[in-house]
Amino acid sequence: MNAKIHDYIYSHEGELKKLLSELVAIPSVMGKPAPNAPFGEEPKNALLHMEKVCREMGFSVTNYENAVLCADYSPNGAPIELGILAHLDVVPAEGAGWTTNPFELAEKDGILYGRGVIDDKGPAAAALYALLCVKELAIPLKTGVRLIFGTNEENGSEDLEIYKKHDKFPKNVFTPDGSFPVINIEKGMIRGRFSADFSDGNIVSIDGGKVINAVPDGASANLQVSREALLEEISRDESGVKFTVVQENDNFLVTATGKAAHASTPEGGKNALTALVSLINRLTGNDILRGVEKLFPFGETDGSSLGLKCSDDSGALTCVFSKFALSQGSAVGQFDIRFPTCTTLSEVKEKCQKAFSDYGFSFETTLEDEPHVVPENSDFVQKLLSVYEKIEGERGRCVAIGGGTYVHNIEGGVAFGAERGDTDYHMHGDNEFVTAEELLKDAVLFAEVIAEVCG
Ligand SMILES: [Zn+2]
Repeated sequence: MNAKIHDYIYSHEGELKKLLSELVAIPSVMGKPAPNAPFGEEPKNALLHMEKVCREMGFSVTNYENAVLCADYSPNGAPIELGILAHLDVVPAEGAGWTTNPFELAEKDGILYGRGVIDDKGPAAAALYALLCVKELAIPLKTGVRLIFGTNEENGSEDLEIYKKHDKFPKNVFTPDGSFPVINIEKGMIRGRFSADFSDGNIVSIDGGKVINAVPDGASANLQVSREALLEEISRDESGVKFTVVQENDNFLVTATGKAAHASTPEGGKNALTALVSLINRLTGNDILRGVEKLFPFGETDGSSLGLKCSDDSGALTCVFSKFALSQGSAVGQFDIRFPTCTTLSEVKEKCQKAFSDYGFSFETTLEDEPHVVPENSDFVQKLLSVYEKIEGERGRCVAIGGGTYVHNIEGGVAFGAERGDTDYHMHGDNEFVTAEELLKDAVLFAEVIAEVCG
């Protein structure tokens, strides 16, 4: 470890926290697009604040349409070959569980609280102080560094599309918007919709799932069935999903409550929708609904019934039936599939096409994404891992995930930080936190990476 880097960063703890507190104080949640503010006023304000700070530090700054800010450091005009990509936008902080003001940085017992402290304003501030450290210590570099601060990661990364109109990404890019040590494989993804005509005297309507990228924890149905049969079937149900019944005139409103989980890790959830469909099929028959259950049986998360099951080093394929809207006239379902690198986008699509048409559904994809893979043995990844081992004192390794990170569509990009181990930092939740020590270590790690990759 370079003792000078360590000492520089730790002696600038106050300044680093001050920058973070200024960023946290800007509630940079996506707002209404306006001229010169493509993602609303507050993300733009966060970007403009960062622009001012980067200028004052003496970096060469470029602002692309108030969507992306670049701060370059390339002594003697060396070509820029390393990019550090972080984002300044945040998700809303509406949860009732916050014990501090989410838009005011709070520190208690060495822990920093506030919206964005781990995702991703803390890592962004740490990256800036890492670069300042390299500059002020005049660490010799052969190639230059670019910090890239975006403002739309949480809502589709349109910011990077704007960046791409103006400039290319450096050869090596990492984003501290995932977890340590290094995420080098992100599964491919398909989101799709299937539909069929529907009419049935007993099944008036079914409605389930709020978002496509999660195991639904709630679903409801309006049924015209016998009360006794319904209550008996519920009493016999072994899914672990909770059912409640309310009578409305001659109909029964059945509500299913399961357990939500992210679509990339569905094993931890309990799908309320597939449990409800199964319950209805046991009560009253309908071909369309039986087809739905054949394709998405309760408890299955590996796509077996669509003929998709497969796995490799990058993990197992996951499949979640996440949304369903059925009424007299039509039944429309939506699902989310994450596939490992042992299969391909076209193979998954072909199998879906066949499975859905076998049961009389029409099918279309609403999102298609190839897997993102950076070889573990690449020079860049090996350097990241060796810096990680040196600073953290534990083995560095590559990780594959089902979700997509900020670098999903950047060739050669990997995630490096900023979550550690199994810690739940309450990212996107109430009381989001990072420890002050972790924030400082991030800055040390990033400065060491700059020295290693560009030196
Ligand atoms: Zn993030």
